[in-house]
Amino acid sequence: MREYSNLKRVSEPEGSRFSASGISEFQMDVANQPGLLFWHNSSPEIRLAARQTLQQLVTEHVDELVATFYRLFLSHEEASDFLNHSVVNERLNQSMSQWLLETVRMDPGSDLTDFDARQIKIGEVHARLKIPNNLVMEGMSLLKSEIATKVATLDLPVSQTTHTIIILGEIIDYAMRLMTSAYVNDTNRRAQTDEAFRFFSLGQDISLERKIQRAALMEWSQNVLLSLLGHGSETPATLASSPFGLWARHRAAILFQGSPILDSIERVIAEIDGEVLSSVIADKPNGVVTLQRRIDEIRFLLNDLFQAASALENGRDPLTRTFNRRFLSSVLRREVSLATRAKTPLSVLMADIDHFKHINDRHGHSAGDAVLSHTADILLHCVRATDFVFRYGGEEFLIVLVESDHDRALTIAERIRQQIAAKPAVISNAGQIPFTMSIGVATFEGHPDYQYLIDAADKALYRAKESGRNRVVSHG
Ligand code: GH3
Ligand code: MG
Ligand code: MG
Repeated sequence: MREYSNLKRVSEPEGSRFSASGISEFQMDVANQPGLLFWHNSSPEIRLAARQTLQQLVTEHVDELVATFYRLFLSHEEASDFLNHSVVNERLNQSMSQWLLETVRMDPGSDLTDFDARQIKIGEVHARLKIPNNLVMEGMSLLKSEIATKVATLDLPVSQTTHTIIILGEIIDYAMRLMTSAYVNDTNRRAQTDEAFRFFSLGQDISLERKIQRAALMEWSQNVLLSLLGHGSETPATLASSPFGLWARHRAAILFQGSPILDSIERVIAEIDGEVLSSVIADKPNGVVTLQRRIDEIRFLLNDLFQAASALENGRDPLTRTFNRRFLSSVLRREVSLATRAKTPLSVLMADIDHFKHINDRHGHSAGDAVLSHTADILLHCVRATDFVFRYGGEEFLIVLVESDHDRALTIAERIRQQIAAKPAVISNAGQIPFTMSIGVATFEGHPDYQYLIDAADKALYRAKESGRNRVVSHG
């Protein structure tokens, strides 16, 4: 085995960086490198010995280390989506080897501008490829363990083994910290761009888009029927490859991101192309009826999809015209940070209709709907134009009162409660429906997580319900 223990006796070029008092002249670097404290506080001998041990070990075992890293990486299903083995073999093995060697050669006391820039670039590449950061971190932990295990088998003095392993950890964590921050920045930027593009696409004429896609679907089903009637044996083109299928896969995925309705449409398309088409060929009369039914199913789903989108288009709930809950987090995150920076007050009301289930049970669901829209009118009337009223749940509303302290919030909540109690909803065939509301009030106290504020208002609402309903209760 190679003799590593005498490395610490190698002459020490780094000594010049220390003044007579022994204090590092790189104080500025220390401040920027919080994770390299041990390195900065170590003697030049310790650093040099550690770096040389690591360099020799990694140089000797680099292929094995990289292979171990990717074995772990590729064992994850998430990773195999974007990395296949030949890509890894051709490109990434080499970059990974280079990175490892460069990282153990890195000298935290020298100018790290280039090294830092490379870590940031790697983080950006990971974000671009959508490589989950947790996988990279897992791989790094494995690398640290593998290298540390090798250090431990070298028979170095215990203190030298310890120092080397600590410095190994500090250096890899330093690189990882830069990569992660670049990864997060880049991912956030991309998410914002995606969202902006989605709204841009939504802003395009959505009702025209709906007509075009309905027509495209109909055209495909007519073509299938025609081709079957004409020359019976010819297999019709699949729905997935038709203009409608392409739209569903590519455009709709942007417009209706994450919509479960879109998933259902894709599922029906796959079923039509699978069993249904072959059954049409095998048994025309029955097959045609089945096909027609499945196409109708897509038409209904398409309707739902577009209906949900036009409500989202302006961020409002179609029944009450209050804001869609989907935008609550953006609004509250922004308001909490404004209140923190500007030291302005901020309050939240959680308002819930009392015994709403009875109203539905007694007068029917559409009377219930009318009560909801009547409630929303009163809420919107009682707050300022700059406040935000959200439909939080079925018969529950969350109101963000900007620049409002606790007293103002209580006053507004009480005004809402009184007006609701005093103005029954008037429904055409049910007549007057009197009802009441319970309201919880919470005021921002500095906690940076807006969920804390929502929970506080929710607890207050719960107490209002418990203590008899038709009342305002404040948190705390
Ligand atoms: P509590 O005083 O404790 O709040 O009782 P509640 O009956 O108001 O509350 P619960 O949560 O038991 O029932 C709420 C009901 O609201 C159940 C649900 O069917 C109904 N609901 C939810 N969304 C809508 C809607 O959009 N329209 C109608 N008409 N009813 C809805
Ligand atoms: Mg209720
Ligand atoms: Mg409720």
